Amino acid sequence: MKCPFCDAEMVHGYLNCGAAIWSDRKHKISLLPDGKEQYALQLGTPMLSPNHVESDCCPNCKRIIIDSSGYEGNIGVGQSE
Ligand SMILES: [Zn+2]
Repeated sequence: MKCPFCDAEMVHGYLNCGAAIWSDRKHKISLLPDGKEQYALQLGTPMLSPNHVESDCCPNCKRIIIDSSGYEGNIGVGQSE
């Protein structure tokens, strides 16, 4: 896949991580959403090996692109009316 920012060929790989959440706010303590925020990519703590989030990294501008559609989240829900 080509980087949408600089057009370089991106490197396919995995974000290897523990618990994580992408949210429209900063979480200081808990990684659980509070029902008012928009969030995506909610990942629980893995029991054995880390979570492996398929993604692409640009070797030129270093941006990382993640398709969060297969993960727990509420972003975009109810906004299509
Ligand atoms: Zn790039």
